[in-house]
Amino acid sequence: MKCPVCDSESLEIIKTKGKNTKEVLLKCNECGNTFKETINIPKMVDRRIIISKFEESEKKQVKLYPDEILEVGEVLEVDGEEVEITSLENIRGGRVSKSTVLELETIWVSSRAGPARVGISIDYGGRIFSKKVEVERDFLFTVGDVMKMGRAVFRIKSMKTVTHKIRKGSAQAEETKRVYGRPAESKDKYQYDLTSKVIEREV
Ligand SMILES: [Zn+2]
Repeated sequence: MKCPVCDSESLEIIKTKGKNTKEVLLKCNECGNTFKETINIPKMVDRRIIISKFEESEKKQVKLYPDEILEVGEVLEVDGEEVEITSLENIRGGRVSKSTVLELETIWVSSRAGPARVGISIDYGGRIFSKKVEVERDFLFTVGDVMKMGRAVFRIKSMKTVTHKIRKGSAQAEETKRVYGRPAESKDKYQYDLTSKVIEREV
């Protein structure tokens, strides 16, 4: 909306009338002109949303405006919980990375609540020792870091993130799927102890 006199978009709503179609009286903050506009307020629609958290998933309904555009990677709030869009399924059954709500059938998201779950695999010359840990979402794993997990002390060699494999640098836990390590040398001191973060046994 623009002021018809000066084209300014800085407007103040003075009065509104009506339900789905609103007649509003606006005042321009630039030139002081007042004018009437009719706005169509679209009805919200229900869409199926599937929230995944670790290995579980929960089905819910979410109310959204039909002309709203959703995109993979975007963060939404569902019942007070932050979720990130991982996939969008449209009414033709196709998976798309971007769509209007109107065209959508199902919204696939992952929960951003609580800690991040990351796999740790330590390679003892071909014998792999694996566990899962739960750490703060912003916990930083860095290639070269030495960590302790139970009796194992290991050095991070590489990491698999949501998008790719990295052999140098760092990644936040929420972006990290798995951390690969090799046993540290006996002279190495560990910087962090993951022992209390281990959540389950894994072969
Ligand atoms: Zn104006």
